[in-house]
Amino acid sequence: MITHPFTYQAPSTLEEAVEELGRSGDSKVIAGGHSLLPLMKLGLAQPEALIDLRRIASLRAIRTESDGTIVIGALTTHRDIAHDPIVRAKLPALAEAAGAVGDLQVRARGTIGGSIAHADPAADEPAPALAYDATIRAVGPKGRRDIRASDYFKGTFETALADDEIIAEVRFPAPAGRSGSAYEKFAHPASGFAITGVAALVTLKADGGIERAAIGVTGAAAAAYRATAAEKALAGTNGDAKAIAAAAAKASDGIAALSDLAASSDYRKHLVTVFAKRAILRAVTRARA
Ligand SMILES: Cc1cc2nc3c(=O)[nH]c(=O)nc-3n(C[C@H](O)[C@H](O)[C@H](O)COP(=O)(O)OP(=O)(O)OC[C@H]3O[C@@H](n4cnc5c(N)ncnc54)[C@H](O)[C@@H]3O)c2cc1C
Repeated sequence: MITHPFTYQAPSTLEEAVEELGRSGDSKVIAGGHSLLPLMKLGLAQPEALIDLRRIASLRAIRTESDGTIVIGALTTHRDIAHDPIVRAKLPALAEAAGAVGDLQVRARGTIGGSIAHADPAADEPAPALAYDATIRAVGPKGRRDIRASDYFKGTFETALADDEIIAEVRFPAPAGRSGSAYEKFAHPASGFAITGVAALVTLKADGGIERAAIGVTGAAAAAYRATAAEKALAGTNGDAKAIAAAAAKASDGIAALSDLAASSDYRKHLVTVFAKRAILRAVTRARA
């Protein structure tokens, strides 16, 4: 289908992009275009102006700050995240989630900023963003704002980002202490989107038991969430198979699970338990290696 007519601009700085975005109430930024363009072709989004971010080179980098925070520019593609040596070493659950997005073409074009801004309930990267307690740095006409991932995902395609704000980067604190993390996904066989995806991060005590756990879940509910009941159940245990299974069984506590042609709500809850168990087990194994 042919899209509604729109104007197109490609500024070279973030400041210009923010200014352009504020100029018309009905403008949108575009990054990889892998979520926005299909919506425009279906007539579900009809922006009057498109502001292309892809000339803003500063949004494409991955860097590590002096305190260890790993900063991923909003325009970084899923493919570049999946292959980055720092991300693979320090944030393996994010590398695995990015590597599990769609197919090669989608990973080569789609961006972390686009995924986090779009907030599809079946998107992969929100799960590790929650587990690693990432911060979304947004820039708007009033300046810069940092939003914790746990405060960011509000509902289906609904976030704490304002219409006039642009995501500049996603900031991941380096996991402290003896820690391990992993992402496990049950993918839709046609689209590749997550019917369920679980990212787990565990930190160990000196005796090898679990000091702390952080678990992000996507695909199961209207918005990605932190499985706090499972995190509490795991903390303080010895991290054996029984403790992991008991914690994983709580990973869908309190959620209204989605139900659709791909999976009923009961089946989704079952998948959350199974994939939480797998993610936690791999995270613990990595932490102990
Ligand atoms: C066939 C197919 C399969 C897919 N499979 C998966 C999958 O398995 N897992 C998965 O997670 N995703 C999947 N996706 C979605 C893909 O990851 C998209 O790339 C991603 O969701 C959006 O990123 P984008 O850069 O393409 O954003 P765009 O499509 O350019 O933009 C999406 C939305 O975000 C806004 N936006 C973009 N960048 C910013 C920014 N920096 N600041 C503020 N707003 C911004 C846009 O205005 C728009 O509203 C799939 C897509 C396709 C087409």
